[in-house]
Amino acid sequence: MTHTLNETHDAALTSWVESANDPQSDFPIQNLPFAVFRRAGSGAPFRGGVAIGDQVVDLAALDAVLAGRPDHAVARQAAALGARDSLNALMAAGPAAWSALRLALSRLLRADAPARPDLLVAQADAEFAVPATIGDYTDFYTSIHHATAVGKLFRPDNPLLPNYKWVPIGYHGRSSTIGVSGQEFRRPLGQTRGATDAEPVFGASKRMDFELEVGIFVGPGNAPGEPIAAADAEAHVFGLCLLNDWSARDLQAWEYQPLGPFLSKNFATTISPWIVTTEALAPYRTGWRRDAADPQPLPYLDYPALRGGGGFDIELEVQLQTAAMRQAGQAPATLATSNFRHSYWTVAQLLAHHTVNGCALRPGDLLGSGTQSGPEAAQAGSLLELSAGGKQPLTLPNGEQRVFLEDGDRVVLRGRAARPGLPRIGFGAASGTLLAADKR
Ligand code: MN
Repeated sequence: MTHTLNETHDAALTSWVESANDPQSDFPIQNLPFAVFRRAGSGAPFRGGVAIGDQVVDLAALDAVLAGRPDHAVARQAAALGARDSLNALMAAGPAAWSALRLALSRLLRADAPARPDLLVAQADAEFAVPATIGDYTDFYTSIHHATAVGKLFRPDNPLLPNYKWVPIGYHGRSSTIGVSGQEFRRPLGQTRGATDAEPVFGASKRMDFELEVGIFVGPGNAPGEPIAAADAEAHVFGLCLLNDWSARDLQAWEYQPLGPFLSKNFATTISPWIVTTEALAPYRTGWRRDAADPQPLPYLDYPALRGGGGFDIELEVQLQTAAMRQAGQAPATLATSNFRHSYWTVAQLLAHHTVNGCALRPGDLLGSGTQSGPEAAQAGSLLELSAGGKQPLTLPNGEQRVFLEDGDRVVLRGRAARPGLPRIGFGAASGTLLAADKR
């Protein structure tokens, strides 16, 4: 299922929320992404909200507006589900409910509709929570450029393992340490062993890294034993967000064989508060191609919409702000830009593969795309790649150098779908800060 364009995608639409009409806004009326929020410091329950310009539409306040509108009955039910303290129930409700709510919001927020500032909370006055109760979290490895570059560092003679072009590689992560933008966490402790060390040592990681990823929130999902077909998979995708899979490379190098990443990944994962729906991204679908020299996908990973529009054209960016930059009032510096269109596997293929053995996905489950490095060196989505395995320091605009992250470093992921003549569909930011290790 890929969405056809409808009146909510009309590029000419503007809103009575003036800030939404700024072409540089991540959140024009054509976007309408979901989050869970409350007024900062209020202690009020968290509830669902939708971004419009620099404001949040309070889904709990929408009921009174939609109550007298029989044409928006489905949207009213969806808004009630979205007004809870997590979005799981709305995610479970499926695409018809999501689309109805999007249409109602679009009509309510248009410039020719009566202004209702009483429905809004300024984003600057809001605080956000992880938008769903995430039962399970799986991280994939869908950039062949990242897999090849990292493979070269870990296994110079054997960079890309033979399964890569046949099977979407992934591992089961932890949901317990996923945090929303603004997350702070301590440098993890663990075992490491350098290439020339006889024995491992215990201590703080010295090779801390980020991973520039897209997060995928699951919608209705499937019962155990009932796989989701690739052709139906997008009906089970609520939307996409930004995801930073923080990684301790020295822990990873020592522990990853034979069962994959473990403590090198599960101490922290940061996501953006906003989830952009696949319907909002419909104008930014892009064709997916597999090199003729590569294996074509097995039948269960192939589907009619794959080659015409299986991918997403989403620009991704990673920025770094060191503690010194913050003290000097300097803005974060861009380290790399990439695009989700380079992914070797599509979102639908990830869901189809994940469930083909009978594994159940549930509403609110989160999938990570894997580090989205592109084909160019400047499109590398991790420091491991940008510093050539810690050998080539990066010089920041203020003269500081980095091979891996230092205490106090703040990493900011950004994303947007943008094209001339089309509204910008932005993702906001996923920002996280590395603190000094616990003293032991
Ligand atoms: Mn990852």
